[in-house]
Formats: sequence, C-alpha cells, structure tokens
Amino acid sequence: MRVLFAASEIFPYAKTGGLADVAYALPLALKKVVEISRVMPLYGFMNRKSYTLYDNFTVTLRGEHYAVAIYCKEERGIITYFVHAPYLSETEHLYGDASGDYADNALRFGIFCMAIVELGIRLNITLIHLNDWHTALVALYVESYALNIKTVFTIHNLAYQGIFEKESLKTLGISHKYFSIEALEFYGKVNFMKAGIAFADAVTTVSPSYAREILTEKFGCGLDGFLKVHDKKITGILNGIDYEMFPPLQKKESKVKTKRLFCERFGFKDPSLPLFVMVSRLVAQKGTELLRDVFKALADEEINLFILGEGEQEYCTFLEEQTEKYNNFAFFQGYDERLSRETYLASDFLLMPSLFEPCGLNQFIAMRQGSIPVVHAVGGLRDSVHEAQAICGRGITYEGQNSKEFLYAVERASLLYEEKKEMELISTFNLACDFSFDKSAQQYYRIYRGLL
Ligand code: ADP
Repeated sequence: MRVLFAASEIFPYAKTGGLADVAYALPLALKKVVEISRVMPLYGFMNRKSYTLYDNFTVTLRGEHYAVAIYCKEERGIITYFVHAPYLSETEHLYGDASGDYADNALRFGIFCMAIVELGIRLNITLIHLNDWHTALVALYVESYALNIKTVFTIHNLAYQGIFEKESLKTLGISHKYFSIEALEFYGKVNFMKAGIAFADAVTTVSPSYAREILTEKFGCGLDGFLKVHDKKITGILNGIDYEMFPPLQKKESKVKTKRLFCERFGFKDPSLPLFVMVSRLVAQKGTELLRDVFKALADEEINLFILGEGEQEYCTFLEEQTEKYNNFAFFQGYDERLSRETYLASDFLLMPSLFEPCGLNQFIAMRQGSIPVVHAVGGLRDSVHEAQAICGRGITYEGQNSKEFLYAVERASLLYEEKKEMELISTFNLACDFSFDKSAQQYYRIYRGLL
C-alpha cells in the first residue's frame, strides 16, 4: 500500500497550528506499517533552494494551464513533496495576512488539489490521506475522474470549511452538477469541506468525542445535518505527539530551575506561587472570551499567570493592558517555538478553557513536561484528560463553559499545588502515559486496509 499524506502545513516547513504537528508526527508513526510520503504547498516564504526539483507538469482547470514544479526533501525516512504553482506559491503567508484571507484562496488550493491528484497518479499511490478543507477537493477530483485511488479525509477543525463564492466552481472547472446540497452547495456558496465529507471513502476526526459532537447543532458549524447523512463512514481517532520531538521531562531539578529563571525573566515577584500558563492561538475557540470575563478574578488568585500567543488583535490588546495592572501576569505576544518549550517545562499547570477542541495537542506536551492540564471537558480534551487522582494521573477538568466552573477548577489546581506529594504522583503517572501516535496509527491503518 502506497499512501500520500496531503496537508496545507507540515512542521517544520510551515505551521500555523496543530495540523502541522500532526502532519509531521502521524506519517512518522504510519511509516512503521505502510509506505508513506507527504505533500504540501511550497509557499512564497519558503526557500526553493532548500529542496530538490523532482518533477514538472501542467494542471489544467477550465482550459487554463498552470505550470507546477514538484520539489522534494527527505527527513527521518519520509519524503515530503512540495508543490510550487502559480498563486499558491506567491504569498508571504499560508492563508492570508492582516487584511484577511487571500482573495484567491479557492484557486490557490484548487490548483494544489489538482497537483496532488497528478502527483498521486505519477507516484502510483493507492490511497491519499487528506486533511482539512485545503485538500478536500482531491476527493471530488478522484471521484469525478473515476480514478483508482482511495481517499481518507480527516477533519482537524470543522470551524474552518473553505467557503467561497459560487463563481469559484467555474474557475476551478468543477461541473455545475456538484453545486447541490448533497455536494458542495452551502447557503448559495461553495464549501470545500463538504467535498471531503461527501466524496472521501472514509472520514475521520481527531478525537472520538469530537466525532460525536460535530453531529450536534452546538458543534456542527452548520454541517451537523450533512455529517449525519455520512455518519456511517466517520471515525474518531485521538491525536498524539511525536516522542522524539517532545522528549519527556528527565529531572525534576530541571523543571524547578527553569521555573525559577522563567519567573525572573517575566518579572514574577513570588516564584513559589503556582505557575499557570496558556500557549495558544488567541481566538474565541480557545476560550478567550471566558478568559476576558474572569480575568480580574483569575489574576486576584494567589497564582502567577503567563500567556504565550498570537491571534485576534482585540484579545492581544486586552492582555497587553492587563500586564500593566497585575504584576503576577505576563503576556508574550507572538509565535515562539522555543519559548513554548520553556513555558511548558516551567509551568505547574496548563490552562485550556477551549470552547470546543477537536483534539488539542498542548495537553499532551504539558503532561510530557510534568505540567498538569486544567481543561474544559470537551472534544479531545475530554478524551485525553480525566480528573486527576494520585493513583492514575492526568488533570483538572470542568464541565460547562462558565466563569464559576473555570475558576473553581483553577482553585482546585491551586489546592493541589499545596499537596506536593500528590502533584508529584500525578505528574509521574502522566509521564508514563502513552501519548505517542503509535496506537492511533494502527487505527488509521485499519481504516486504510478496510478500503482496499
Ligand atoms: P490549534 O491547531 O487549534 O491551534 P492545537 O492544540 O492542535 O491547536 O495545536 C497547537 C500547537 O501549536 C501546539 O503544539 C502549541 O504548543 C503550539 N502553539 C500555539 N500557539 C503557539 C505560540 N504562540 N508559540 C508557540 N507555539 C504555539
């Protein structure tokens, strides 16, 4: 079986969120059971000279010819192919800039999808594993050209669906027959995510709870009814992390030392207080509204609080303002891989008050670093963090996204912090848990096999 894993971002080449980490780690675990390679765009900010030219071809959409160059690079035994194409590769960011999403995203990712199909044929691929809306049209192209290639479509976040004007179908040369409620039509527009759900041979989500949640109005983002039509082919498989990329905490002393230096660097006067952190995109999904509502009460607790993140300006401005008011709060605005590692290691607790969470990866990284997650029991957080007990570890959970429950969870965490022995036992249990991708890779493999 030859599998091509297609994603719009793969760590370390391009990353805006967890998709890039998964697209890095999951193929590494799958490599143990199948022959696998990856494909992603070669964006404008990436240096072509770092990769080897592999192939050239043209893709045609509605009579327009687009010259595609495929570059490649092998790392840790996996070849990644990079698609260089007009529009797709002309941008300085992945999906948009400060003024919003790029206007030609439908065309950019339409070309990307056609290039994936052509590459799949040239590589004699058995199955293409698609991820999120950017690659979803591959399932439609494979179906419409009746190709002998199977497709699996993974939903990493249903909130981002790739919705465009009806006219984009024409530009992409997609037959009008697909502009129906059973296919791509979505309130008079075109929805790329629907192509993946309708035409892929199997659909997966990144946790079992999220697979159930998206069938409800609350979490379905307008697609719950459509998903229910296809629910027989939907499976939830929990994400994991790459263990080489995230080695476990070795010595308690290194955590103590890192925390001390961290507190010094960010001006926390009393490093003996529990250190709560967040490492997150600052968007409503991650619980930023709740955080804003409870901020005063939270900062009034006997804790130190640190947030590393970037995202919507209003939240950044709000957090920036709070740093002036509280000396037990610090905020680092930006995306910083290295600082994120230090943050996980230094922290006692990781806050994840997500409104919804398809899986979340931060909780796994935190537990590998002896930091206890405090989470809203939703989606993948529900599946990976249960209420801590000294004999079986994990974290602090709360049901219901409201200030009272959240603050109560923080208070419980602070009380736990006083019980040093119990904290230690919980962390030790968490360190012994298997959060690698190996188990999940077996589940994906079973799905692949079932389609052949
Ligand atoms: P999402 O994909 O919804 O943003 P995930 O939890 O799946 O959320 O993945 C987020 C990943 O990005 C984690 O590895 C987290 O540590 C990392 N991350 C998020 N924000 C930052 C940041 N500002 N700096 C460094 N790493 C970040």
